[in-house]
Amino acid sequence: MVRSPGWEPPRAIGSRSVLDAARSYGAEGWPVLPVAGVSSTGECGCGRSCEGPGKHPLFRHGAHEATTDPVLIEEWWRRSPGANVGIATGAASGLIVVDLDLPKGGESLQTLVAAGHQLAPTLTSRTGGRGLHLFYAQPSGIAMPSSVGRLPGLAQALPGIDLRSDSGYVVAPPSIHASGRRYRWDRRRIAELPSWMLSRPMVPTPATNFCLTGGASAYGAAALSRELEAVRGLDVVQRNDGLHRAAFCLGRLVGGGELTEALVLETLLCGALAVGLGESEAAATIRSGMRAGMAVPRRAPEGNSGWQPLHKPRRR
Ligand SMILES: [Zn+2]
Repeated sequence: MVRSPGWEPPRAIGSRSVLDAARSYGAEGWPVLPVAGVSSTGECGCGRSCEGPGKHPLFRHGAHEATTDPVLIEEWWRRSPGANVGIATGAASGLIVVDLDLPKGGESLQTLVAAGHQLAPTLTSRTGGRGLHLFYAQPSGIAMPSSVGRLPGLAQALPGIDLRSDSGYVVAPPSIHASGRRYRWDRRRIAELPSWMLSRPMVPTPATNFCLTGGASAYGAAALSRELEAVRGLDVVQRNDGLHRAAFCLGRLVGGGELTEALVLETLLCGALAVGLGESEAAATIRSGMRAGMAVPRRAPEGNSGWQPLHKPRRR
């Protein structure tokens, strides 16, 4: 469904319960999915120490399981009354969301402005952390893949800015953020996706230039580097399964606190692009593999076996 510019969500959405909001979004034709909630002490509803408290889907297939069916929505929140709500993005809803993480994304905004581009004011949700979700109407007939750290129409990397489109989702008001604050609607009128994003395709960062900075223990970084190398060596027949396997292995280490989810996603995405996989398909494969891996967390082994980390693995 394509949203016409000028559309506004119902006034009351932000002030009601998560279930009420989920019902409203569904009624608007926006498929929703239950996302892990956050306890009053800021812990993730999944009960593990996870890297994305209050942000990951409760279901294995994430946004692919999102629905507008009011009966199913009712049932999901009856079973998980504390769940947050996610809205599926891209073709599923006709919504393309620019996810701006502040303050990191602030510098990227300057990059955008320097390139002569703007993010037009539009329907916006404040995330409760230090982020903004800018909801744009997807132009009809235009398919747009999700991206991490960059936007279509611009070759430069944009750290802190992601595009949520096909196969993606965003956590939506009035979900509770790990900060304890609720996501809330700010600006309400939806605008069409800025035309400069349609002007030319993204140029993926060559995986060879990818450097590991933060987000990993020494053990995690060694594993990430090895898996990236494996992904880059995959042939056409193996690459989807191989990518999924790598994401699963690294997802286990994400679950064990050796790597951050974002670092694994960005790194594997670079590797996947380098072997010619499409971005949205690759991102979906990576997320699915990581999610499965995170369910069986693994830490750096005592005394270390397997590959040689540079330093003693961090203990948690
Ligand atoms: Zn969690």
